[in-house]
Amino acid sequence: METVFSKIIEGVIPCKKVFENDRILAFYDIEPAAPVHVLIIPKKYIASMNEVTAEDLPLIAEIHSVAQQIAVELGVAESGYRLINNCGPDSGQAVHHLHYHLLGGAKLGALTG
Ligand code: C5P
Repeated sequence: METVFSKIIEGVIPCKKVFENDRILAFYDIEPAAPVHVLIIPKKYIASMNEVTAEDLPLIAEIHSVAQQIAVELGVAESGYRLINNCGPDSGQAVHHLHYHLLGGAKLGALTG
């Protein structure tokens, strides 16, 4: 399934990379919601959290490890940050390729529901 993120993975659409390996890409969000706003995505196409399978769990674990590393590198590990996944219409998920928002660099507002 072609999405804006698959085009970023392919290099067709440019991005400001923060991290890349064979399985994962992280880049700055083009519409930052906080001073630090990075998107961490698997290169494998997974539409949303709902489509994550047991075989994907090592990849999900690795995304958490990459998030931890990025938080240190961008100086927010100690001050604090959020790792957010939007899944489905009520969450506001706009891009149907699994992704995690890493947000930090300022006191973040309360979560609302
Ligand atoms: O979780 P959600 O699907 O709403 O988030 C998608 C995110 O992808 C948005 O924060 C948007 O700014 C970001 N985006 C981006 N670069 C693009 C297209 C979308 O950083 N080319």
